[in-house]
Amino acid sequence: MNVWKANGLNSYNMKLSCIKSTVLIEKKELFGLSIIENVKLSFHLSICSSCKDYKRQSQLIDAALRQQFVTKLEFTEAEKQEIINKLKSE
Ligand SMILES: [Zn+2]
Repeated sequence: MNVWKANGLNSYNMKLSCIKSTVLIEKKELFGLSIIENVKLSFHLSICSSCKDYKRQSQLIDAALRQQFVTKLEFTEAEKQEIINKLKSE
C-alpha cells in the first residue's frame, strides 16, 4: 500500500499556501509539528524559495533574541557577589 495514500496525502492536500507554511514554521519552533504537518512543510519548503528564506530569517531572529535574553538574565559569579556586596553596604 502507498504510504502517502495511507496517510490521506495526495498532490492536492499536500499543497500549502505560503501563509500556512509560515504559520507551520513558527509552530514548529514553539510547539513542534505532527508528522503530517512536518511532511507538508518539508514538501512546501522543497519547492518554495520564499518560505525557505522566511524560515532561515525567522531562525536567525529567534537565535538573536534568545541570546539577547540569556545574556541579560544571567549574571556571572563576580556580578552576583558585587550585587550582594552592594546590598550589604546599604
Ligand atoms: Zn511558500
